[in-house]
Amino acid sequence: MEENERKLSKLSRWGLKKSPWAFHLNTGSCNNCDIEILDVLTPKYDAERFGIVLVGSPRHADVLLVTGIVTMQTYPRLLHVYEQTAKPCLVVAIGACACSGGIFDGSYHMVGPLDKIIPVDVYIPGCPPRPEAIIDGVVKGLAKL
Ligand code: SF4
Repeated sequence: MEENERKLSKLSRWGLKKSPWAFHLNTGSCNNCDIEILDVLTPKYDAERFGIVLVGSPRHADVLLVTGIVTMQTYPRLLHVYEQTAKPCLVVAIGACACSGGIFDGSYHMVGPLDKIIPVDVYIPGCPPRPEAIIDGVVKGLAKL
């Protein structure tokens, strides 16, 4: 019985790495990072070749793509979304703002950066990061799952 459960868990993790579903959350970014995430999904960068698909609900997500500094307004929403994601969930901080606060570091309305609030698995710096860097970060991060 234990052997079957072990095999099933191995199989589900293999499947997870082959087809990670992602949920995107903006926690107060200037929107440039979000535009780069959309770029990743266009045929030019074709993230679907790695099985990466954007989903509309965090309950279906294996990967949480977060942009922005985490403002006072978005802080409770971030917690709510993170609680809803299926575990294990790969949390990816996209852009300098999510990684460290970037140009908004020290702002009066900033609660983040992201790793002050939830555990972060992958940091993708840049202002904004290029689509290639986002794909590279997510694919390398999947090895952690
Ligand atoms: S890292 Fe740069 S592009 Fe991304 S949200 Fe912050 S300021 Fe905007």
